[in-house]
Amino acid sequence: MKIAFTWDYELFFGEQSGSVEKCMIYPTERLLEIAEKYQAKFTFFVDTGILVKGQEISEFSTELKAIEAQIQHWDSSGHETGLHIHPHWEDAVWNKGWKFDLKRYKLADFSKEEVPVIFDKYIDKLQSLTLQKIVSYRAGGWCIQPFDWHKSSFEKHAIRIESSIFQGGKNETHPYQYDFTKAPLKEKWNFEFDECSEDKNGSFTEIPIAAQTYSPLFFWRLFVLGRLFPSQHKSIGNGSPAKGGGSRKDFLTKYNHLCVSADGYFVTQIEKAIRDAEKRGWERIVIIGHPKACTQFSLKYLDKLISKLSKKHQIVCLRDLEK
Ligand SMILES: [Zn+2]
Repeated sequence: MKIAFTWDYELFFGEQSGSVEKCMIYPTERLLEIAEKYQAKFTFFVDTGILVKGQEISEFSTELKAIEAQIQHWDSSGHETGLHIHPHWEDAVWNKGWKFDLKRYKLADFSKEEVPVIFDKYIDKLQSLTLQKIVSYRAGGWCIQPFDWHKSSFEKHAIRIESSIFQGGKNETHPYQYDFTKAPLKEKWNFEFDECSEDKNGSFTEIPIAAQTYSPLFFWRLFVLGRLFPSQHKSIGNGSPAKGGGSRKDFLTKYNHLCVSADGYFVTQIEKAIRDAEKRGWERIVIIGHPKACTQFSLKYLDKLISKLSKKHQIVCLRDLEK
């Protein structure tokens, strides 16, 4: 099995954006140490808005340099860099920290003419930092729809791999808007105009994030452990998430269909997801994670997990799952 750990490298987008050091630099250093220990390769989806907007603010220059140096470090170590666009950076304001307005959260909140302009600006900035060619894309907040708004930009910049969707996923609560309930139940497929409809001759490859159903019991454990052992289970990132990702009540009372994730306590469910994929006869799996959502617990767990997985599987970049 080829396993791709894909990390969305970004701040928080709620009331508190958090610090670059705690949300990005420190947890990513720890992840890179784990990767190096077991010769695993990771993929980092860089929220490029911070690079584009950050260069306008002189007070942010030290943080910006640290981010750019970290990207260049993993790039030269053979990890993959993917483009991740959260276009609400277009409206971000610096006031002793980043303040976000999520009225225009996804590319679909801009005009069809503005989308390729934003895309060009972001990918040119990111590609200027990496020696490896960028071939993979993940939309901010999973909001890739409608894909045909992205199509000309994918073609122009030779982006071949799309990895925003997870099968069965749906969220129409502001600022989110996605519905992947019609996506094929396959480990990858080609497409042309719509990422959820397979086209065998399509120019692009969808390699979806793996998904699984989490029971209320899982969330009870997660919340109780967070209360009892905050030093182990509290996110290292020091910001607050954007609203709209689901309420605590829903998590504690209903079954939830979500991504297979390396964030915090979710890391404990990865092996089950791999077994489920193997039962289907699949040869690849994509796991999502966020450096900002790593916990001391998840980093220790991940170290042991990758040690174990690397004996039986290949832990590789997302682009290695294309073939
Ligand atoms: Zn993101």
